[in-house]
Amino acid sequence: MNGGSAVSGAQGLQGVQGLQGVPEMSAAVAFAGMKRVVDVVFRAGCPDCRANFELGASALRLAIGATSKTTFYSFTCPECGVAVRKPAGERIVELLTGGGVRTLRLHSPG
Ligand SMILES: [Zn+2]
Repeated sequence: MNGGSAVSGAQGLQGVQGLQGVPEMSAAVAFAGMKRVVDVVFRAGCPDCRANFELGASALRLAIGATSKTTFYSFTCPECGVAVRKPAGERIVELLTGGGVRTLRLHSPG
């Protein structure tokens, strides 16, 4: 009872290693590990003078109101000095608080 059929032919399988190109993942992986080590920088734009700039966490303020309508973040434009205030959705709130931005909780009357 020797079953005689040899299963031959693992020949077609040689994929995986032969991909062309250099692995480019190292940068992304490095970043993932460093979230809070380096100062987080947020990109922002000024509606007044239309400048685009990057702000550190300390340049931003986040005010969390009772609802998302009263939740906003603010900063001072480094170009023209105008005070900018923008609504902050849930994701922005997460981003800002996670990045160490100062957070104010607004107490709604009532
Ligand atoms: Zn400006």
